[in-house]
Amino acid sequence: MNAVKKTEKSLRKTISFRCYAELNDFLPFERKQRNFTLSLKTPVTVAEVIELLGIPLSEVDLVMVNSQPVERSHRLLKNDYVSIYPTFETFDISSLKTTQKQPLRITRFILDAHLGKLARYLRMLGFDTLYKNDYGDLEIIEIAKEQKRIILSRDKLLLKSPRVNHGYYVRATEKHNQLIEVAAKFELYSQFKSFTRCMTCNTVLLSKSKETIRKLIDPDIYGCFDEFFFCPVCNKVFWRGSHFERMEGLILSIISNKSK
Ligand SMILES: [Zn+2]
Repeated sequence: MNAVKKTEKSLRKTISFRCYAELNDFLPFERKQRNFTLSLKTPVTVAEVIELLGIPLSEVDLVMVNSQPVERSHRLLKNDYVSIYPTFETFDISSLKTTQKQPLRITRFILDAHLGKLARYLRMLGFDTLYKNDYGDLEIIEIAKEQKRIILSRDKLLLKSPRVNHGYYVRATEKHNQLIEVAAKFELYSQFKSFTRCMTCNTVLLSKSKETIRKLIDPDIYGCFDEFFFCPVCNKVFWRGSHFERMEGLILSIISNKSK
């Protein structure tokens, strides 16, 4: 009997953990916002430990072991230090995910009725952004929860709802400044995919060969540009004209603001 116990004990390894931001909501008091150690039977994977901690895997964005990003199937070793980050941590972790086949974090937004111009700008930068000027508060909260979207709002009452997990009160009132503020708050810079999404309806634009859009646009424009994009919902063709250049100037000003 003692021998069995000894064998079991020898398979246990001490591993250190720290969970960040709202992942602490799933932890008992003594493990919240601090480092803690567990003596775990090995072999054990990252995914198994996250479940053991009572954290739903869907809430986890990034796991780092000894400062290196790892897959969920990664096996933990004695004295490892494991950092677990949630989906909506606001600092930029996307560049760290070199081992992931595709980024786990997809930053999506839903905006309230006051932020229509900001919605267009976020779409311009390629962010999946829902906006309607007649969304009700409950509707916004439900969609945000279901689709894991961050709520951006100028309505403090909406954001005070206990059902809002991921909301942010946009301070700036002018659209350029709002975009600069949101890009800085969520450190969006590495996720820019400018001019890939329709600013009007949020649909991802399709790249079209010149020949296929010949009948849809003015011959002068057809002659001046080689690259065209198409929104299948709005049925509109886009090209890199003067509007595009102004937008590019705006994007550059956001990026230069980052280094200030
Ligand atoms: Zn469209």
